[in-house]
Amino acid sequence: MRRTRNVEQRTIKQGASFVGIGLHTGRKTTLTVRPSHDTGGIFFLRTDVESGNGLIAARWYNVSDTTLSTTITNNHGVSVSTIEHLMAALMGCGIDNALIEIDGPEVPIMDGSAEPFTSTFEKYGTVSIQAPRNAIWIQQPIEVCEGDKYALILPYPKQRITLSIDFPQAAIGSQTYSIELENEAFLDNIARSRTFGFTEQIKQLQRRGMAKGGSLKNAILVDGGQVINPEGLRFKDEFVRHKVLDAFGDLSLAGVPIIGHYYAHKAGHSLNKRLIQKLFESRAAWTYITVNEYEQMMGTTLDGEKSHHDKVSSETALHRIFSRSNR
Ligand SMILES: [Zn+2]
Repeated sequence: MRRTRNVEQRTIKQGASFVGIGLHTGRKTTLTVRPSHDTGGIFFLRTDVESGNGLIAARWYNVSDTTLSTTITNNHGVSVSTIEHLMAALMGCGIDNALIEIDGPEVPIMDGSAEPFTSTFEKYGTVSIQAPRNAIWIQQPIEVCEGDKYALILPYPKQRITLSIDFPQAAIGSQTYSIELENEAFLDNIARSRTFGFTEQIKQLQRRGMAKGGSLKNAILVDGGQVINPEGLRFKDEFVRHKVLDAFGDLSLAGVPIIGHYYAHKAGHSLNKRLIQKLFESRAAWTYITVNEYEQMMGTTLDGEKSHHDKVSSETALHRIFSRSNR
């Protein structure tokens, strides 16, 4: 399915349900992504929380834990964990607004990738909610680091992710991946890549009460130079592609797409959290812009197509953007 132009905010056309176990809790949950015609973004609602305080905004300021997965928590202490693959799927399918009902503490891991979500969203389709889609347009670099790990967002005219990893396990080693997220690029190249773990790590994690739901059905298991899964890999560089998926999911917690180049080495959920936090602290480094204004100004769509463009409309758009104060 080819998506329509992306200048308006969208929601899913009808509710989509998923049932599965959580990677870390091992608990079975049912999750339903419902349409929302409000412009508030993505919200989770814990339907099993009897106090009625189960609503959690899927935004960076609610990120409470980044140990192995991304967890968000509201002011009442109600959490939902391992949200990153679902968040990446929503953004990858152009779904800006939705209410996600879930009857437990962790998003089902499904097959370890975002594909079960994206294929359902693509099948059900999306509708415009007739509100302009906003974006964050990066003008100055934002940077965080920790030892030899780093993550940056650099000024760049599109949404681009470049990521490299370096693991001692020979089955992974050093891998780099770079992608411009336009058209179907996310769905074709990233969505199917699965999460991964290591045989030597599993027992340790399970002793700490994590990875309880992990199996060869929902993760790639690596033992030194070997991939244990009988079906092998979906891409020969599936590991780094999955890290791109995770980063895309984490970046979506900014609330709107980021026009800029996310460039990172060995970065995980914790560094991504710090990066978005720094982004919102560095308010002079970027501006909010509607995707429509941006495309008019650049004379090209964010999907990589030429738009009708003339010098006058571009100057008008620029004037509009810089004459108003940053929202
Ligand atoms: Zn992941």
